[in-house]
Amino acid sequence: MNTTELLYQGKAKSAYLTEDPDLLVLAFRDDTSAFDGEVIEQLEAKGAINNQFNAFIMQKLGEAGIPTHFVKQLSPTEALVKRLEMIPVECVARNRAAGSLVRRLGVEEGLMLDPPLFELFLKNDALHDPMITEHHVEAFGWATRDEMDVMHRLTLEVNAVLSKLFLAADLTLVDFKLEFGRFHGEIVLGDEFSPDGCRLWDVHSGEKKDKDRFRQGLGGVLDAYREVGARLGIVFDT
Ligand code: ADP
Ligand code: UDP
Repeated sequence: MNTTELLYQGKAKSAYLTEDPDLLVLAFRDDTSAFDGEVIEQLEAKGAINNQFNAFIMQKLGEAGIPTHFVKQLSPTEALVKRLEMIPVECVARNRAAGSLVRRLGVEEGLMLDPPLFELFLKNDALHDPMITEHHVEAFGWATRDEMDVMHRLTLEVNAVLSKLFLAADLTLVDFKLEFGRFHGEIVLGDEFSPDGCRLWDVHSGEKKDKDRFRQGLGGVLDAYREVGARLGIVFDT
């Protein structure tokens, strides 16, 4: 797949146009950011690990009937995806309290959330991704009511599929963030699912196996990502 011009350079991935207007190449870089891009570091092989992790998860979600942008893995660090018209909203599902929920409501980290909590944030680093509601999404025209309903339903379906998948690998899926877009009118899951955008705790020790290791300066970030991948049966080519 010949890539042409760079369409978008995000904090961790670059998107390139291809000769097919419906397809993009997503290149996963080693850049690792936290706190809305205030901290950026290079973690060697992170791009390859996240690309291959994401490919595995997107395939599982596709098999479970979730419409995703993923077409195929092109190289250790690149994926071919459908080009979506992205909706600037982050859909978060939470099974346990952590991160911003703990800071916002003062609840204990790890508190069980039953039923799982669904939250929305505006994707805007300059505003530090403020929390919004479905009413904001509709009122500001970021998505229609029907599109919002689909994103809500798909996020909870992803949660059900992946909670089971991770539990079988002795990992608790604590929370995660998804981004959706439109492909010829259909709401499709875009962006990535990797330990950069979710929280995973070891079922027995409670040890963090996700990007909180980077955010909290715990070290061993990529060893944890590799371990999660290995538990899922992913053989990384890095
Ligand atoms: P960020 O924008 O948060 O810095 P990334 O570095 O991950 O994040 O950049 C990837 C960018 O590509 C994001 O803006 C994301 O919304 C966008 N994107 C992801 N998947 C697609 C897709 N299938 N079509 C178009 N844009 C996409
Ligand atoms: N998340 C993300 N990108 C963001 C914000 C959050 O991938 O810009 C993920 C994060 O990794 C976690 C979940 O979404 O798995 C919920 O994040 P939270 O609201 O707790 O924010 P945080 O404290 O992680 O910034």
